[in-house]
Amino acid sequence: MAMRQIRFVGDPVLRQRAHKVNRFDDDLATLVQDMAETMRYSNGVGLAAPQVGITARVIVVETPQDEDEPGSGRLYAVINPRITRASQEMVDGLEGCLSIPGYVGEVARHAAVTVKGQDLEGRKFRFKAQGLVARVFQHEIDHLHGVLYIDKLTAPDRLWRVGDGEEEEAKVQNDTSELAAAGRPLEWVAM
Ligand code: ZN
Repeated sequence: MAMRQIRFVGDPVLRQRAHKVNRFDDDLATLVQDMAETMRYSNGVGLAAPQVGITARVIVVETPQDEDEPGSGRLYAVINPRITRASQEMVDGLEGCLSIPGYVGEVARHAAVTVKGQDLEGRKFRFKAQGLVARVFQHEIDHLHGVLYIDKLTAPDRLWRVGDGEEEEAKVQNDTSELAAAGRPLEWVAM
């Protein structure tokens, strides 16, 4: 296994459409292993192949174990994933992206989705995801279409700087307490 270099916003590879995978070979298995390692090392909960410079329809997802979240705590590696059903209910939530370090934004996502895809051997499968797992799948599948979360904020100002700079942190504190007042969760994760 090896770490891969994460590509950052501004890199054209993040805006390209990823290609369908047709070869289920050792190179694919290595890519998936490397993506899982890179995601975990970066404290992310998901990663799409374009984020490591590979325009292939490959994603990995792994959210922390949470007994209230079905499907959490396990590693999904999905080849050629697509969303075949999506709930009408939308949920606003905070997202970060490993390709956009230092920012967090509010995005509306379907509360539940059905995902179809293939495993490393090319076998087709389908599953339902909800909650954070559903959010991460929607974020990662967007990456395969060259779409970033900053393209679909709930409003243009629902984007905050986090991480470096006390002044900006203070601003975020302000904004997150406003979110708390609205009963929103304060945690966000990068994907
Ligand atoms: Zn991302």
